[in-house]
Amino acid sequence: MKIHEYQAKELFRKYNVPVPEGTVAFSVDEAKQTAMTLGGFPVVVKAQIHAGGRGKGGGVKLASSIEEVETLAGQILGMTLVTHQTGPDGRLVKKLLVEAGQKIKKELYLSLLVDRATASIVIMASQDGGMDIEEVAARTPERIIKVYVDPLLGIQGYHLRQVGFGLELPGAAMKPFSGLLSNLYKMFVANDCSMVEINPLILTSDDQVLALDAKVDFDSNALHRHKDLLALRDLDEEDPMEVEASKYNLNYINLDGNVGNIVNGAGLAMATMDIIKNAGATPANFMDVGGGATSEQVENAFRIILADEKVKAVLINIFGGILRCDNFAQGVVDAAKKTGINIPVVVRMEGTNVVEGKKILADAGLNLTSAVDLSDAAQKIAAAVK
Ligand code: GDP
Ligand code: MN
Repeated sequence: MKIHEYQAKELFRKYNVPVPEGTVAFSVDEAKQTAMTLGGFPVVVKAQIHAGGRGKGGGVKLASSIEEVETLAGQILGMTLVTHQTGPDGRLVKKLLVEAGQKIKKELYLSLLVDRATASIVIMASQDGGMDIEEVAARTPERIIKVYVDPLLGIQGYHLRQVGFGLELPGAAMKPFSGLLSNLYKMFVANDCSMVEINPLILTSDDQVLALDAKVDFDSNALHRHKDLLALRDLDEEDPMEVEASKYNLNYINLDGNVGNIVNGAGLAMATMDIIKNAGATPANFMDVGGGATSEQVENAFRIILADEKVKAVLINIFGGILRCDNFAQGVVDAAKKTGINIPVVVRMEGTNVVEGKKILADAGLNLTSAVDLSDAAQKIAAAVK
């Protein structure tokens, strides 16, 4: 689960990770009020959306007077901000962060991530922070330092020094930087984060360090341990269909093809997407109804996919293990009765109670095409969308 920059910075404050003074504003008036309390200019006006690249897209602006705060807040609030992370449709800006402007001596990059390969938390840092970090990673990867922390050992002095020296920080900045990084690590672990990124982390003219930007992503599987964090969720920033699917515990991801999929099991879903691609078509979604899906879940999965306008045909691929094929078939029939099926549906079903499942589908008199195996299913679905 992602949160906004202003929420991430509030979390930073709780863990003594230094950030500029500032608050969220939902209107031009609120933006002006906040700017007045900051005690000077420049003031930074920043669009709050769950995507990076806002600076380049025109969503981060410096104001040198209260009139300018008013103009810029008016321009940014309500704009559709397009960045390399939002896709061509962009995001509607509904809130701003209004902050005290900082004097920047150097822009650095700092992030913490869960590294599955080494089962550790990796600290990534670079002297070349700012808006072009993707370029740095692509062209001069040696300019990015990686330090791995074993979570059982926790962060130690030598980790902090490795990163600090690697960044070639001035002597006076070493202590404040070490404090910031160890506090950030504590925050990361205590809140079950999957990613924390500060870009830029700035070095000020008096050798202090400050998080000028803040991105935080929490491990959704651990959110049940952090009820307080759930309050930070902003449904406006999420795909409405994915929000709907999450209500029924369906693992659903919206994609851009035209073949809708209903599959039980993430591995089978990945294989199904591969085989659809292989047959020359493109999946419209990833939908894993899970190993133990109920017929109600199946019904909702089918309804969500049929409501997706870009879906031109649906492939159902079920391997009944814990999920019984007859339960699954009943869910499909119930959904079809309520929603009506007006596009081709290909079904490949095997496993527990498959005979009963096939009978339920046949007796319902639905317009379904059955497939004998996975490659037959892929051929039939590709033909249906051609
Ligand atoms: P992003 O583009 O979405 O990553 O947004 P950032 O919060 O990183 O802001 C983009 C850029 O705006 C930063 O890299 C800075 O160069 C600039 N910026 C942000 N805040 C300040 C500030 O207080 N003073 C100055 N001079 N520049 C700032
Ligand atoms: Mn940034």
